[in-house]
Amino acid sequence: MAYQHVLFATDLSDDAPRVGERAKDIAQKYGARLSLIHVVEDVNISLGGGYELLPVLPELPDEALLQEARVALGQLAQRLGLDAADKWVVNAPSTKEGILGAVKDHGADLIVVGSHGRHGLALLLGSTANAVLHGAPCDVLAVRI
Ligand code: AMP
Repeated sequence: MAYQHVLFATDLSDDAPRVGERAKDIAQKYGARLSLIHVVEDVNISLGGGYELLPVLPELPDEALLQEARVALGQLAQRLGLDAADKWVVNAPSTKEGILGAVKDHGADLIVVGSHGRHGLALLLGSTANAVLHGAPCDVLAVRI
């Protein structure tokens, strides 16, 4: 089976370029489309009490965070020579939901993550890699970090 759409999920950490190179290499080998995603976990949710119904105003810090993430994702893509790739910064209740939502919306058939990331847990797989693996409708590659 040839992969057609590889989704590189990145935490924008120092290891991200290494994981990205692997995603790029695989996409090239299969002649697949390659997209990048970074999830900004929902901070509004903690407000509770109906505040989530309020529109997100541009001056709120989370919009600044999203903007910062868009810039960082653009820089990472540039460093990888992937300027033309689709780059998505999404806001979701969890990183897992953000990634799997994009898989569903855009029809990715391979998710590439790092085995560990910022959480740096001494587990076999990082918490995100593990969560994504268990919920994914497609193959998942955890690049050893
Ligand atoms: P961690 O759960 O922090 O050990 O991260 C494991 C891997 O999950 C990282 O190497 C990334 O590939 C991916 N990942 C972690 N956080 C995010 C995020 N916010 N957005 C997209 N991918 C992420």
